[in-house]
This record gives sequence, structure tokens and C-alpha cells, in this order.
Amino acid sequence: MNRVSVGWIHEVFSSIQGEGIFCGQRHVFVRFAGCNLSCSYCDTPGARLQNPSACRVVPGADSCSCLSLHNPVDADGLFEHCRNLVGRAVCLTGGEPLMQAEFCAALARRFRQEGHVIHLETNGTLAEALPSLNGLVDVIAMDMKIPSTSGCELWQTHELFLTRALETKAFVFVKAIVDARTEESEILQCADIIASKNRRLPLVIQPVNGKKSVPGEHLLRLQEAALRLVDDVRVIPQCHKVLELP
Ligand code: SF4
Repeated sequence: MNRVSVGWIHEVFSSIQGEGIFCGQRHVFVRFAGCNLSCSYCDTPGARLQNPSACRVVPGADSCSCLSLHNPVDADGLFEHCRNLVGRAVCLTGGEPLMQAEFCAALARRFRQEGHVIHLETNGTLAEALPSLNGLVDVIAMDMKIPSTSGCELWQTHELFLTRALETKAFVFVKAIVDARTEESEILQCADIIASKNRRLPLVIQPVNGKKSVPGEHLLRLQEAALRLVDDVRVIPQCHKVLELP
């Protein structure tokens, strides 16, 4: 089979996983370039550029020693530059990694050969890309975009994506970014989609970072609403930002 083994990467670095249920683990982050959405709260706008000329690799805690690789990079070459980064888990993130699904699969395969655990962070919209990752990803962290927060209404797209994600046999959890405007009906819609597949799948409610803080009582109300339909609902902020880490 002809597989695409080159792609566009925005940056690679090692840090703590700051989001979701694996928060606090040390991960190697491979941030793919390009995204098919434009969420109003996007905190990685630089990664939305589809064909950046260079990929930054930060080998360790000392960001002064970073390397610059020419894009597109090939999977084997990128792996060699990541070999000494700290973290058994590799997080394929973006941007949107599934826009480069074949390259994503090539990288996942290469890292798995060396015993890494593969996490995929995705905006949960490109279901048609998932079959190329069957058996190559251990964890899928999928977003469900909340219309009042993101500016996108994608419920049917997310439902189809969740169906396909569960078929990959990866462990799946869902993340919903909320703010003070998020309504109970929105988190209930999200919880209803999850419950229609498996009410035990974790749902992480993540308050949007930055100026628009979310009152704690509002987070509790949203969590209480979601718990009517889903068993495991957690409220987790972006911990790497609290610690001022990348
Ligand atoms: S899906 Fe992620 S990378 Fe893309 S615009 Fe939304 S927040 Fe930014």
C-alpha cells in the first residue's frame, strides 16, 4: 500500500499533559499544522497555518536549544529527532492531526515500534480519516464543540465521529470547552450523544482559558446536568497553563 510518510508539523516538545483525564503525565507532543475549524477560543492559532516552512523541535526543558526542521518532514526523520525527548506517551495533536491522516498513521506506527503509547487529540469532525488509524492509537481525546463557546454547531458530525472512534478499539473520552454562556441544554446534548453510545465514556468539562472566566457554580451546574446522562463527568482546567508550561 502506498502510504504518505511526509507531512507538515508545527512543533514538537515534551511537557506535561495539561488537559483531560491523563492530566499530569509527561507526554511528547507532536503538533500537526493545519486545521479545518476556526474556533473562537483557539489557543494554538499558529498551528492552524497549513504548510509552515519549518517545524520547531524543543529537545528538553531548555527551550533555548530548540532545532528547526524543514517541512514537510518524514516520519522516520522526525522520530529520530524525538528519540531523546522525555515521555513514553506521544500525543498527536494540532491543529487537526486527522487532516494528514496517512502521515499521522505513519508516525503512530513508528513510535509504537519503539514501545510508545499513542494519544490522539482531535476536534472530532473527520470521521472518514479514522480507519487509517485502526489499531495504531491507544487513546482518542475527542472534542465536542459547544456552539456558544466555539462558534461551531457540529452535533451530527461529532456523533458520527464518536461511532467511528469507538470502532478503532482505542480508549475514547470526550472534552467539551465551556464558558459562562454555555447553557445546560448544550452540555445535555453533548452528554446525550455520549450516552447513546456508552454512558461510561468519560466527559471532561474544561473551562475556557483566558479572560472569560467561568464561575465555579456554573461549572457545577453543567456537571450536574451532564451527570443525569453520563456516569463519569469531570471538571478539569488546563493545568499546563496554571503552571505556565507549554
Ligand atoms: S479545532 Fe483546535 S486547533 Fe482547530 S481552531 Fe479549534 S481549537 Fe484551534
